[in-house]
Amino acid sequence: MIEFERVKSDLLELLRIDAPSYREAAAAGWLAAKLAEFGVEARDDGTGGALQGNSGNLVARIPGNHAPALLLNAHLDNVPPCEGVNPVVEGDIVRTDGRTVLGGDDKCGCIAILAALREVVTAGLAHPPLEVVFTAAEETGLEGAQALDYSTLTARQGIVAESGSVGAITVKAPSADRWDAVLKGRAAHAGVAPEKGINAIRMAAEAIAEMRVGRLDEETTANVGLIHAGEARNVVPPTCTVSGEARSHDRGKLDAQVSDVRRCLEEAARRHGGEVEWRVSRTYEAFDIPREARSYALAEAGAREVGLDPIARPTGGGSDANIFNAHGIECVILGCSSSDVHTTEEHVSLSDLHRACEWLARIIEIAGRG
Ligand SMILES: [Zn+2]
Repeated sequence: MIEFERVKSDLLELLRIDAPSYREAAAAGWLAAKLAEFGVEARDDGTGGALQGNSGNLVARIPGNHAPALLLNAHLDNVPPCEGVNPVVEGDIVRTDGRTVLGGDDKCGCIAILAALREVVTAGLAHPPLEVVFTAAEETGLEGAQALDYSTLTARQGIVAESGSVGAITVKAPSADRWDAVLKGRAAHAGVAPEKGINAIRMAAEAIAEMRVGRLDEETTANVGLIHAGEARNVVPPTCTVSGEARSHDRGKLDAQVSDVRRCLEEAARRHGGEVEWRVSRTYEAFDIPREARSYALAEAGAREVGLDPIARPTGGGSDANIFNAHGIECVILGCSSSDVHTTEEHVSLSDLHRACEWLARIIEIAGRG
């Protein structure tokens, strides 16, 4: 049995430790010390330099029986505003004081892994070899997971502990592309010789007005998120930088959307005699875990054994699970209770988090049965 009071006090301690992206070292240190209390050694994988942060990923390997190895993952970092979190406990709910996010995304996942490991290790339960990875810089674009050295991992299945309702098992996530475009026109004095200029803001405006953005269909979304241009009111702006993204569960639809964005930009530039510098890259690849897959079967069986109603669902967002799946580690995502994440309304139900801890411990135990 996982002790409720300990889950609560561990969560409150960890929530008070600042862990913005690229500055996860204090949270990683806290977790390493907690794991050491029951004999698990965790080490920084040394990727902090490459990430330009003060922490790499925190990795622990726990030898187990002959069952296939299992990866466990949660991310260390939080989105802003996440410094100086002052958790307020109201009965079963932990919320913020309104100034910050809570950081339950993903400190709840970290606590679930910590509590499950403590239970499994200290009770001496049979378990598979466990490869535990607490990732840095997830929120900035899954950077820690991308920097990880996959040659050191043997697990082919895994569980990612994340925010979301307890019992939810995310089995499907989209691919995402990010794009940046620089529209290039020509500078000119706006009053003396405007005809000599080519207005880059005007080109961008026309292109953006043509683009499809928002929810395009049930599996595709698109956004224009950033625009930068202009130095002075009286200068025809020579450049305008526009950045956006698109996501889809269907790679064909994603490719079609991104090339349509590019067409809008190029046509607007052509009409005005300007040019477009275009860059696009794949942020992450989609995954779709079948119900008969081992990672899903473990999550579902674990849920039933602890009295949770397992619900398989898709997500519109990306997470480290996209990266692990792309590296051949079949991962589902467990909801570990925090709600309204990425807002100052974020809150956690302690009893739900406790159930997530029990759920994860049971999954590890079932995985140990081979
Ligand atoms: Zn998260």
